[in-house]
Amino acid sequence: MALLITDDCINCDVCEPECPNEAIFLGPEIYQIDPNKCTECVGHFDEPQCVQVCPVACIPLNPQRLESRETLMQKYHRLVAQAKGDAGAAQALPPAALP
Ligand code: SF4
Ligand code: SF4
Repeated sequence: MALLITDDCINCDVCEPECPNEAIFLGPEIYQIDPNKCTECVGHFDEPQCVQVCPVACIPLNPQRLESRETLMQKYHRLVAQAKGDAGAAQALPPAALP
């Protein structure tokens, strides 16, 4: 299951850098979690890192995204493969095409 951030969020900025999947981002008002990137930290850590650091405990499980540990692990492998693909694509570009 992915996690979500409720409107109790106080925008303290602490969770965003802790996410190993870069799933947390600042939305229009509060921080949000991209459920396509959140693996509950499966593949990286034993416990969800954002939940560990949130000072107001506003990051529950997302009931809309029921996912088994196996599914979360598959999502983790997909994200890792994507990251490697992105890095490979950047390396394949000629120097002039790089930012
Ligand atoms: S549980 Fe882990 S992967 Fe999901 S948003 Fe929190 S830190 Fe990121
Ligand atoms: S740690 Fe909690 S309160 Fe702070 S930005 Fe993240 S969700 Fe919001």
